[in-house]
Amino acid sequence: MHYNLAQLFRESIGSTRDYEVDDSFVGPEDGLDRAQGWVRVIRTHEGFLIRAELETQVSLTCSRCLSPFELHSELTMEEESFPSINPMTGRMQDLPGETDGAILLDDQQVLDMGEVLRQYVITEVPIKPLCCEKCLGLCPECGSNQNKEKCKCNAGPADPRWGALVELLTEKQD
Ligand SMILES: [Zn+2]
Ligand SMILES: [Zn+2]
Repeated sequence: MHYNLAQLFRESIGSTRDYEVDDSFVGPEDGLDRAQGWVRVIRTHEGFLIRAELETQVSLTCSRCLSPFELHSELTMEEESFPSINPMTGRMQDLPGETDGAILLDDQQVLDMGEVLRQYVITEVPIKPLCCEKCLGLCPECGSNQNKEKCKCNAGPADPRWGALVELLTEKQD
């Protein structure tokens, strides 16, 4: 997902490039995650406007049961981007005042869309990701995954949600 924008920078304002994305990028857990969709780059007065609509499948680890799971998200982005070096002069570019959060290109005018995507996804991922809302986590005694097997430990209902579940199960048996 590296797009060289050097040629587009030489074109007139409003010129565009469209990129289809069906690619992998380094995700928040440093594995290879997938993204599909499109990226459109528009030449602006000072640099570029980058628009994208992407679906991502990101591998995460559940903070409760430690199992891997996939988080699907849809991202819509519209960001400004500026070359760090003016390709006409080879000098550092005088950037316009408001460049906070803007995407900077490297000195070859290459847009690293994988890195942009990684930053976007990191802001989407919860601090404590869960494989599912009702994840039962690991048994505090034997460490077995309570979603998969019921161990014989006598840990008891440490979590109030367990109590509700036990009640529900006994009701059904009556
Ligand atoms: Zn889980
Ligand atoms: Zn156990």
